[in-house]
Amino acid sequence: MEDCIFCRIVKGELPSSKVYENEKVVAFLDISPVNKGHTLVIAREHHKTMMDLPDDLLKDVIVAAKKVSKAAMDATGAGGISIALSDHEVAGQVVPHAHFHIIPRHKNDGLKLWPQGKYSEGEMKEYAEKIRKSFK
Ligand code: AMP
Ligand code: ZN
Repeated sequence: MEDCIFCRIVKGELPSSKVYENEKVVAFLDISPVNKGHTLVIAREHHKTMMDLPDDLLKDVIVAAKKVSKAAMDATGAGGISIALSDHEVAGQVVPHAHFHIIPRHKNDGLKLWPQGKYSEGEMKEYAEKIRKSFK
């Protein structure tokens, strides 16, 4: 897509710090890292959300994300990796070209991913049932 910044990075029209690429996938450093080495993994082909990615391509992206995770962990001396993906604007997706965030994690790095809540009596069963019924 012409005006998509990640498509422009794929084409080399915008600068990026690429760390990995293959026929289907490109990985490059996030310009505003949560921790140093924070990497974005994307399909070369433009798909707006993770849910839009064809299954085979999603597999290629997630396999690349695994490779990038190992390399980023070794390179930064991180003790772990958090993988995040905001799918759709409401979830915080800013760039409309599906991307996994690979974030190197260090002990006591202060990153809190999300607060957790509680279900009321019977609600958990209700939500599980609703989701089970929504598979297509
Ligand atoms: P999200 O909020 O999940 O859509 O994440 C978009 C990410 O893209 C943010 O973490 C930005 O810092 C990152 N980003 C935006 N522009 C660039 C760029 N030109 N090069 C590298 N990372 C970028
Ligand atoms: Zn794009």
